[in-house]
Amino acid sequence: MDAFLNAAPQGVAIFGATGSIGQSTLAVLRLHPARYRVHALIAHRRLEVLWPDLLAFRPAVVGVACPQAAAALRIRLQQEWVGSGCPQVLDQPDEIAALAADPAVSIVVAAIVGTAGLASTWAAVCAGKRVLLANKESLVAAGALMMQAAQASGAVLLPVDSEHNAIFQCLPVGVPPVDAVEKLLLTASGGPFRTRPLAAFADITVADACRHPNWSMGRKISVDSASMMNKGLEVIEAAWLFGVPPARIEVVVHPQSIIHSMVQFADGSVLAQMGRPDMRTPIAHALAWPDRVASGVAPLDLCALTGLHFERPDPSRFPCLQLAYDGLALGGAAPLIINAANEVAVAAFLSEQLPFLGIAAVIRATLDRALAGTAFAAAESIAEVLEQDQRARALAEAVMAQLFGARVASSLDYHSFG
Ligand code: NDP
Ligand code: MG
Repeated sequence: MDAFLNAAPQGVAIFGATGSIGQSTLAVLRLHPARYRVHALIAHRRLEVLWPDLLAFRPAVVGVACPQAAAALRIRLQQEWVGSGCPQVLDQPDEIAALAADPAVSIVVAAIVGTAGLASTWAAVCAGKRVLLANKESLVAAGALMMQAAQASGAVLLPVDSEHNAIFQCLPVGVPPVDAVEKLLLTASGGPFRTRPLAAFADITVADACRHPNWSMGRKISVDSASMMNKGLEVIEAAWLFGVPPARIEVVVHPQSIIHSMVQFADGSVLAQMGRPDMRTPIAHALAWPDRVASGVAPLDLCALTGLHFERPDPSRFPCLQLAYDGLALGGAAPLIINAANEVAVAAFLSEQLPFLGIAAVIRATLDRALAGTAFAAAESIAEVLEQDQRARALAEAVMAQLFGARVASSLDYHSFG
């Protein structure tokens, strides 16, 4: 700890700075100014969220992916920035992704939503950075390539997703887990529809799906949690991160979200990581690992808990979970196709073009159609992943139009809907 206090602060780049994870990360960084310096903040276009953080953290660079928003930010900086150190504004996708490889950056927080985060996560992994991975979609779409690149570059991939962070904390450091680990037990809250009568699923609204009982999150992952596609994506994420085969990854519904996941070992021991459902805890863990730093989260009051409940997920209620296991079993590009179809379907649901039940139907039909063709072999480069992602999206859009007459949302900006 003392060594850190004498060292220069570590440069941090936050991709998705205006989102739920980005904002929680900044809340933790605010507590440790001597340890971390924000070098770059990256967002899509929500300047009203970005602006106060520019004033508070004074980063050297800002990436704004939407060119109109970037132009508006440049004007505002010219008119209102006081003092030296006015941030440089980048808006070109290549320049923004390259910030993840900047020598001034030691820690990259990958918290863009969806495969929009793939290029920057890839740049960070190839540059050998400490990567705080929230953007599970990039690992689902390109898991094999990401893990190979991390091994080659020496990048340290630290999971921020609460379940994977919990598993990481439960695994013995430096020991390859596969032999000692019998099962990874991923907990799931069950989301807002765990007890909703199945007959009432046809009436699910966007507001219903975004109202998560325990976690406050962005809109896309909230819908993913309601459908349990989020847990499906997490099963795939866990398989890549920990090298454990899918048959040894089990999902357990735990509505209180106090145990964030568990590892079951060969001797019958089960280790769990517990804490309040607040993403500042896994973020602080991943920032400081192997140290520990304050996160701002209040301690867990065990005596105030009314009980910890566990149950098996109901496959008729959550078909997306099985879809993810099917995708893993199929291998190759199947997880990428599932992820792309899910992004298209969730965007259509959020813009009220597709019913909630249509999400699983669109993913299943897209996967079936993609596999009936021959054009989806396992990708051998990130360029190929991005090209396959585009083709899978186009296929999902066609499926959606055919099955539901649903128009495609004009953009995948999840904040612009509803
Ligand atoms: P949000 O929707 O809250 O935030 C998304 C962020 O991504 C925003 O900063 C948004 O910018 C930015 N963004 C979107 N598209 C682009 C783009 N093309 N270029 C640059 N920035 C872009 O999402 P969350 O924070 O909830 O989730 C982020 C990721 O973390 C997801 O992959 C999610 O699955 C994962 N995750 C989230 C958890 C949570 O508790 N929220 C828990 C575990 C994982 P803007 O605001 O300007 O639109
Ligand atoms: Mg999670």
